[in-house]
Amino acid sequence: MADQLSGAGLAAASDIPSLDRLLNAEALRPALATHGRTQVVAALRRDLEALRKRALDGGVPRHELEAAAVAARTSAALDEAARPRLRAVYNLTGTVLHTNLGRALLPDEAVASVLRALTTPANLEFDLDTGGRGDRDDLIDDLLCELTGAEAATVVNNNAAAVLLMLNALADRREVVVSRGELVEIGGAFRIPDIMKRAGAKLVEVGTTNRTHAADYENAIGPRTAMLMKVHCSNYAVTGFTKSVGVADVAALAHARGLPATVDLGSGTLVDLTQFGLPKEDTVRETIAAGADLVTFSGDKLLGGPQAGLLVGRADLIRKIKKNPLKRALRVSKLTLAALEPVLQLYRAPEFLAQRLTTLRLLTRPMRDIQPQAERLRGVLAHAAGPSYAVEAVPMFSQIGSGALPIDQLPSYGLAVRYAGSGRPGRHLDRLETLLRRLPVPVIGRIADDALWLDLRCLEDRDEAAFTAQLAEPLA
Ligand SMILES: *Cc1c(COP(=O)(O)O)cnc(C)c1O
Repeated sequence: MADQLSGAGLAAASDIPSLDRLLNAEALRPALATHGRTQVVAALRRDLEALRKRALDGGVPRHELEAAAVAARTSAALDEAARPRLRAVYNLTGTVLHTNLGRALLPDEAVASVLRALTTPANLEFDLDTGGRGDRDDLIDDLLCELTGAEAATVVNNNAAAVLLMLNALADRREVVVSRGELVEIGGAFRIPDIMKRAGAKLVEVGTTNRTHAADYENAIGPRTAMLMKVHCSNYAVTGFTKSVGVADVAALAHARGLPATVDLGSGTLVDLTQFGLPKEDTVRETIAAGADLVTFSGDKLLGGPQAGLLVGRADLIRKIKKNPLKRALRVSKLTLAALEPVLQLYRAPEFLAQRLTTLRLLTRPMRDIQPQAERLRGVLAHAAGPSYAVEAVPMFSQIGSGALPIDQLPSYGLAVRYAGSGRPGRHLDRLETLLRRLPVPVIGRIADDALWLDLRCLEDRDEAAFTAQLAEPLA
């Protein structure tokens, strides 16, 4: 051992090459060309420092000091640091609108529009007819009105912002009457009572968790009441002995006292989903027609567009909202508007919607496509996972997600992976889940009931070859 330490295989600190020599070495050229001198110098310093420390601690194998070896370590470190943090993944969770995976995917038309808005000047707030200053809302408000039957519309950063803005603009220091059955918390800290407080409005809860009657609303109306508000029970369902008051009745009660009725519709859809074989969800148009004076909804849930909060309704209320200073703070960027307009345009031709709107295409993807795909991919995954696991193609249920229709499930097909060895499967399933998550394009599934489930609804046929390619070798 002592012999080895002082032997020819080990280098001392004095053998470590200088920074200048390395920077001029042929082996460092590619790293310099890719990452630039600033980053390469910093990475080299870190590498040389680590070598020096090890040399003083006992020695470093000589080959590790060669320029090629230093260059390889430096490039690997810099490549790793340059890897995008926001990465593409395969969403095989079975939840189509998965908030943690970015919700709706944009259709091609919207992507092209965003690209154009990003790379060329555009008439964002410039009136091309008059040559004067324009309003960015003008770009989409007539489309929104056409598609919802509303008098006026505006758009902000997301639906939480839309609710905050609406409450602040119409109910600051006044009361808002909401049913106890609708005081929802949406994931990620959106709670109606908290938003209400931040908006400066006072919440007046009426009814009970499971039952609210018209008289409850009526008795709560007083001189300080600003509005009656309904909130979509996005991510839960109240079942059993229940009673709630519909939009039409709440609106009639509000109007009889000269108050507006507002609805936070959550997901909000612009078309009757039953025509696509999906469960019924009240459309924005139906909610307006039922008497709602103002409706808010998200851009990136069932609508299938970019993150945005849409407000539609009575012209006088929208005008008031647009004058509120919060509107400026919550306004959308040109990217949002560029993405939203082509998505809304697609709704003008409902015949093509299920093909052209990505979200709807995924939600309506037929079993005749998903099941054979599961059977094709069964062997691919079985080979990649190795003999410790059993892979089966099985029926399963997808969810729409993002709080839309929480109890309705969509028949789907996919792969169920179980541990084939003896003993408890948990650790082995976790290991496989981790390996899939560490692939160049991570594969995200879910573990439940002692199996790893990969729902193939969102793996469209055009992506299948790339998916298969990264599973060609057994997972290490
Ligand atoms: C999702 C949701 C929100 C929040 O919408 P974001 O667009 O995510 O801000 C608010 N209210 C309801 C009822 C929702 O379902």
